[in-house]
Amino acid sequence: MHPVFATCGTSVFEEMSRLSAAHGAINLGQGFPVGMEPPEVLAAAARAMNEVSHQYPPMMGMPVLRQAVAEANRRFWGLDVDWETEVLITSGATEALADCFFALLNPGDEVIVFQPAYDSYGVAIRRAGGVPVPIRLDPPDWDLPRQRIVDAITPRTRLIVLNSPMNPIGKVFDRDELAFLADLLDRHDLIAVCDEVYEHITFDDALHIPLMTLPQARERCLRIGSAGKTFSVTGWKVGYVTAPPALLGPVARAHQFLTFTTPPMLQSAVAVGLGLGNDYFDGLKATLRQRRDVLAAGLRGLGIEVLPCDGTYFLCAGITGLGDDDHALCRRLTAEAGIAAIPLSSFYEDRAVRSHLRFCFAKETVDLERAVVRIESWLGQRQRRAI
Ligand code: PMP
Ligand code: GLN
Repeated sequence: MHPVFATCGTSVFEEMSRLSAAHGAINLGQGFPVGMEPPEVLAAAARAMNEVSHQYPPMMGMPVLRQAVAEANRRFWGLDVDWETEVLITSGATEALADCFFALLNPGDEVIVFQPAYDSYGVAIRRAGGVPVPIRLDPPDWDLPRQRIVDAITPRTRLIVLNSPMNPIGKVFDRDELAFLADLLDRHDLIAVCDEVYEHITFDDALHIPLMTLPQARERCLRIGSAGKTFSVTGWKVGYVTAPPALLGPVARAHQFLTFTTPPMLQSAVAVGLGLGNDYFDGLKATLRQRRDVLAAGLRGLGIEVLPCDGTYFLCAGITGLGDDDHALCRRLTAEAGIAAIPLSSFYEDRAVRSHLRFCFAKETVDLERAVVRIESWLGQRQRRAI
């Protein structure tokens, strides 16, 4: 086995989902939404099953979806995008990320990765011959450590990975932070791989700004979206990359040898989704905001520290007084309380931060409420045992 895969183990999302199923737990671990699929998009997929060809679609993606992605870039972010040269459809954002690393990295190239980070980044970068250079963000504020970023740049630095809104911490990078990053790209001749799968999932006053919209960064960004997140269909694995032709060309070459294409009926249904009215996109935010608030209030009511969350599906909760090791605590919570969560340490290569758990709140409100009751009773039992 290649050493990268020999050492990476099974993904923590799979581990916790399996454990959750084994214990009949409420799964607030893996990030997938429940009960939110837009009926128009499901109906479009069902129709497409009968009406659309079942054979290989074009390698770059179906024109109808590439046009819809270009139009969504204009409508939501004011980006002027040429669908024929600047849009590629992939089998999920995970494939898009791998395509970018495989296509753009030469052996030994360094990649700045902000941690906590989605687990596929490090593995895909290494398998592509690159070297991840982790930059740690710390709770409770998750501030961007600007000087540490500047100091980490070397002549071998090629890419920066930027995930905003950021899994698992719910941080949405603001204009000032983005301007700082855009300036770095320009000064050091770097490229940004922008994982924006949660682009439509922001709350309250938080405003998602694609780094690509900053004029300095327009030609240096690959912007990645996911229908899984935008239309609550994570099993579909339909992703899209928007990038200038000089960057997209190599990425398309990697794509043609990884998956080549993506199921056509799903592509045409996602095109319908991207054309839905603002009420759909406003409703997505409103539903998830309400679910976030239910879980946050429930956990806070039990005296648990809950950090602010401006976007994504996730809340981070402190474990002070509950245990020293977040991973061990997650296993116990699943087995004893019937609640699955994800240890934050699994988003750091060195497990540096073990003080918080990630809870996914994109679940039915009733399950969020039941989860709080279960945690309350588990805490009560612990207390009684301790007396
Ligand atoms: N990036 C981040 C930050 C994610 O949370 C996810 C969620 N699975 C992905 C990428 C992968 O998206 P997809 O399911 O479209 O591959
Ligand atoms: N992105 C999802 C999460 O963070 C899960 C992805 C996966 O299971 N690979 O939970």
